[in-house]
Amino acid sequence: MQYSNRVLNTPSSFIRNILKVTDAPDVISFAGGLPNPISFPLENLQEAINRAIDENGSKIFQYASTNGYLPLRQYIADKYNRKHDLGITADDILLTTGSQQALSLLSQVLINPGDGIIIEEPGYLGAIQAFTMSEPSFYPVTLEEDGLNLEELKVALDQPNVKFIYTVPNFQNPTGLTYTAERRKEVYELIKDRDIILVEDDPYGELRFKGDSLPYIAAGKSENSVLLGSFSKTVTPGMRLGFIISKNKELMRHIETAKQASDLHTNIFSQYAIYEYLTHNEYDTHVQKIIELYDAQSKVMLEALEEHFPENVSFTRPEGGMFVWATLNNGMTAMEFFERAMDVGVAFVPGDPFYTSKKDVNTLRLNYTNSAPEVIRDGIKRLATILKDAEIV
Ligand code: PMP
Repeated sequence: MQYSNRVLNTPSSFIRNILKVTDAPDVISFAGGLPNPISFPLENLQEAINRAIDENGSKIFQYASTNGYLPLRQYIADKYNRKHDLGITADDILLTTGSQQALSLLSQVLINPGDGIIIEEPGYLGAIQAFTMSEPSFYPVTLEEDGLNLEELKVALDQPNVKFIYTVPNFQNPTGLTYTAERRKEVYELIKDRDIILVEDDPYGELRFKGDSLPYIAAGKSENSVLLGSFSKTVTPGMRLGFIISKNKELMRHIETAKQASDLHTNIFSQYAIYEYLTHNEYDTHVQKIIELYDAQSKVMLEALEEHFPENVSFTRPEGGMFVWATLNNGMTAMEFFERAMDVGVAFVPGDPFYTSKKDVNTLRLNYTNSAPEVIRDGIKRLATILKDAEIV
């Protein structure tokens, strides 16, 4: 059988492959990007599901509209208008099967083979994978401490047929970095008059444990803006509920067509259940609990890194979200480190799959949300022994 170039050129998810190895019970895993399951509001979800069935009957098991359950879209519109002053209506929202589907739909709608996508380097692996299916040309732009590198962005913007820029402005996956207010403005100035879409993928924005929430780069301000959200990190990822927000009617119409072709509509049972959950519980209080949990876990990881890692390893200090990004400066690649880490029973994600233009990198992603504090301390200590050995050699 001859398979399509599309799928042959798309790597299977490195992380999912790693998870197969790291699922063993005695391995300490900083590899996955999993929310802590103790944060799932099980009882309240159970009540919400029962209520959804009692109140709506067979409707919640029937086929439904492609753009999604109107009360849920209205709820999301109201929330974003209240918190971010976006000036959107329920019609500017389309519910997707996780925000991952939104990435896939966007590239299907915008990219012909060879068209350009500007992407953060390092960038979210799942986005690289979703976009690769449309056979784009990637124009990577370095993600610095403050956000995208502006000089590189200017050059990338002048490349032929660039259709969109993909950003994760808050607590980025994989680096944990957040664009500063200043850099957001600068990026906006560069893109605002161009016929290029700016995608802001923001599944982590609510999980801020330090500093103040910042305005989006373009959301609410520009026709060319697309904002993505998700309930995966704040309620549950298994329900697969995400959403696209854009005032660009033409783009939204094409996305709706692509979604019809893809799955007709997002799981309607999940949509009703989450709506019932959101409207009958103190969502903000619930999110606050997750923030406190991740704040504590991140502090434990950062303290352990400070205490045990040699000085030549640098790492980010996230203000929210789920990841720390470390850079080895000892001549070792992240893949070499990974192989030795498996010998001491610790897993993380080597940086390689997050780059579209580099190999054999010396960076790696550490997740702190899915391990208890004592496990985090133990895992970082074990990793440190490898780095100390490497220094002696
Ligand atoms: N975007 C980013 C930046 C992510 O980190 C993730 C999840 N790891 C997703 C999108 C996809 O999330 P979901 O499909 O569960 O909403």
